[in-house]
Amino acid sequence: MSLSLKIRLRPVRFAFIVRPENRAKLAEVFRVTTCLWGGKYNPIVPFFKKVPDWWDRRGHRFENAKQIVDGYLDFFEPDILVETEKGIANSFGFDEQRVIQLSDVLERQGDGEDRGYGLSVVDVYRELYQKEFQFVHRKKPKIVNVKAKKNPFNLFGSCVFGAFPTTTTLEYFEQNYRDVFDPENINLTPKSFLSLYKTGCVTPLRIGQMNIRVRYHEHSDLTLFVLDADEPRDLIDYWNLRATHRQVLPIPVQWLKILSPYCKSVINKNYRPLPGNPHRVMIRTTVMFSRSIPESEIDPLFRKHVAPDDVNAVVIQTWYPPIWRTTPDFSARTTRPTLETSEKSLSLNPDPKNKAIRFGTLSPEFCNRFGGEFRWANVINLSDWSAGDEIATTFPCNYRNPQFPPFGMALQSVLPTTEGLVLLSKYVSSDEYWELIDGTNAINSWFKANKISATLSDGGRPTQQIIQTLGGFWGVTRIAHPEIVKLLNQMSRRPISRSMQQAEFKNRVNNAVANDRWRRKVFETLVERKVVALGLELRCTKCASWSWYSVDQLDYVLKCELCLKDFDFPITSPTETSKARWAYRVIGPFSLPDFARGGYAAALAIRFFADVLGGANRASTTWSSGQELELPSGKKSEADFILWHQRKQLLGIDYPTEIVFGEAKSFGKEAFGKDDIERMRLLADTFPGAVLVFATMKQAEDLSQTEIDLIGGLAKWGREYNRNRSQIRAPVILLTGTELFAAHSLDETWREKGGKHAIFVENAMHPIEVLTNLADCTQQLYLGMPSYGQWLNDKWKKRSIRRASKAKTSGDKE
Ligand SMILES: [Zn+2]
Repeated sequence: MSLSLKIRLRPVRFAFIVRPENRAKLAEVFRVTTCLWGGKYNPIVPFFKKVPDWWDRRGHRFENAKQIVDGYLDFFEPDILVETEKGIANSFGFDEQRVIQLSDVLERQGDGEDRGYGLSVVDVYRELYQKEFQFVHRKKPKIVNVKAKKNPFNLFGSCVFGAFPTTTTLEYFEQNYRDVFDPENINLTPKSFLSLYKTGCVTPLRIGQMNIRVRYHEHSDLTLFVLDADEPRDLIDYWNLRATHRQVLPIPVQWLKILSPYCKSVINKNYRPLPGNPHRVMIRTTVMFSRSIPESEIDPLFRKHVAPDDVNAVVIQTWYPPIWRTTPDFSARTTRPTLETSEKSLSLNPDPKNKAIRFGTLSPEFCNRFGGEFRWANVINLSDWSAGDEIATTFPCNYRNPQFPPFGMALQSVLPTTEGLVLLSKYVSSDEYWELIDGTNAINSWFKANKISATLSDGGRPTQQIIQTLGGFWGVTRIAHPEIVKLLNQMSRRPISRSMQQAEFKNRVNNAVANDRWRRKVFETLVERKVVALGLELRCTKCASWSWYSVDQLDYVLKCELCLKDFDFPITSPTETSKARWAYRVIGPFSLPDFARGGYAAALAIRFFADVLGGANRASTTWSSGQELELPSGKKSEADFILWHQRKQLLGIDYPTEIVFGEAKSFGKEAFGKDDIERMRLLADTFPGAVLVFATMKQAEDLSQTEIDLIGGLAKWGREYNRNRSQIRAPVILLTGTELFAAHSLDETWREKGGKHAIFVENAMHPIEVLTNLADCTQQLYLGMPSYGQWLNDKWKKRSIRRASKAKTSGDKE
């Protein structure tokens, strides 16, 4: 068993919740976050109970107020919420311990050392002083402290360059900054603004992110953000844009006239061919206008002050990027950047008894030994490289109030997020001791945390044993063939002895997978992994019936299984096939009738998600075999497999984990019934948005019309949109023998199958490894349903016809 850990150290991410019209609080937010290590990347979440009119220029209302605020939170997944008004974050379902007041974030002078949250910039200043600035001979960068003398630009200056708190007990921050860096005081004017930009001065906000490597996950080019410097809502928009985008230059509309030559020269300079692109694609500057600039003013402003000679050099954008909205699959996904100050990788061998691991966490080299709460964050990514897929490494994302995962002795909760497992630390280089668990136990205790009692079902045990016996999905692949599964099942049903002669077994396995480039050494695997055991079939000399004896049972005298009498081993003619013959017998879960009590279908379905889907863009999966569930409502349900499925993003932030419930069937006729549909619907009600899977080893043409109608009905129900969650009720996936027996990857299998299957593989807009797309494809392939897009279109058409006729009738009445 070998586990690898990647640990990344980053600042704690605070989200400040503020009403966008509250200028005073916003100013305080700018001052507080300037004093935090990495403060520039802390998001500011606008709070409102009703979507304000200015939110969307065109008056579109795609989301309600709660969805927007939730969307901001989900995008940033903050570690800590900072309330600018007591109780403002009450309805977010956040763990109370991680909701703090704005006035409590910073340690005040006279407080004990253990007050405050996050890491103070004073620690950063000390480090820079010791390493960089105490030696006079070093070339010192230009360090400045920017203040606007004129009021309307005060808030703008704090937002762009940072500002220090002015209350007496917090004055020490600015004092420290002055003492250490001896900054030049600069009055903010259009002229100084330009020179600050051109010379790349070090400002209070910038210095607070020293030692942090920022990896952006968006690919936009330079953006000029034209905003009203006196509008708090524009400043919040700029703040969040800068926290997520590589290059954003704020241009106050008040200064647009003076800054005009600069804007044009920046645009011209930026207009150049995309390096390495043979199609003469040019890099262009985006000119974005903030939400408070009226639509009617945009064009005149642009023409007068921004438009360069070559209009192709710019793109005008009048809308603010909706970071609160999930990006659809077909457009490039933007996520927040990942921050990192140091990292390490560990390879650990968990204690075989309790799967426990011990490891040291990272802490910033420059931090003071003691401090307040939640001082920095360790982000931990687990991967299990052992063959048996024994350790749960993927968990449902919940940064708000996770009850899960419970890693034994961990002093505080670990936050499962799209970045990995986040651990907020207080002590320098503390040790962690985690007791890890396997998927079945993990999912089981997650149910319990959700007040659902769960027990492994009768079919669940063989499924788990099959996967474990075969040494994980590598081995399950070896039985992923209809003939192999049928052969094993046939042996399990043989009367008296579930065995087959050695040569016959070997031939039948080899014939089934002959010339199959993906399936090699199947026979050897079945024997070596102990799917079958070797023994001798011997004929009883008393009653002439045959019995099977494993190698370790063999002896000179044997007991007949049928007549129960003793008989002698044929020592004089051991090779005579009328008396003795070598034979394999299915053992363990493989000896169970009815396709290992459904275990093959379930194991193959789990393997499909863990190993077949996605191919190279592997997702990470935690799986459990069948569990019986008693829901909080008292109702009972059951699933043959349960998965946590998380799509991975190379070098980036992963997708949120999806919850998958599956029903698996072997080859039986009319296998899926009403009860199965009801059980799954119940699970989707309990876990909104969960993915529902019906998996069968049958081929599509062997599905009955009743089965198709039943699953189709549920799939249609699942397509309805759940507005509160901004997603459909439940994607329903139907997998057939084509998918379960896929030799290698789904792409390959569907491509080889040709026709509609192959067309779906080629559709880059809707990659089939995305579960909602897979649902859409399989519904079209096997249930005869229209595509989701077509279905939605038809629905809208019907609705508009209905509305038109209603309008007509009411018009007639007047
Ligand atoms: Zn006998």
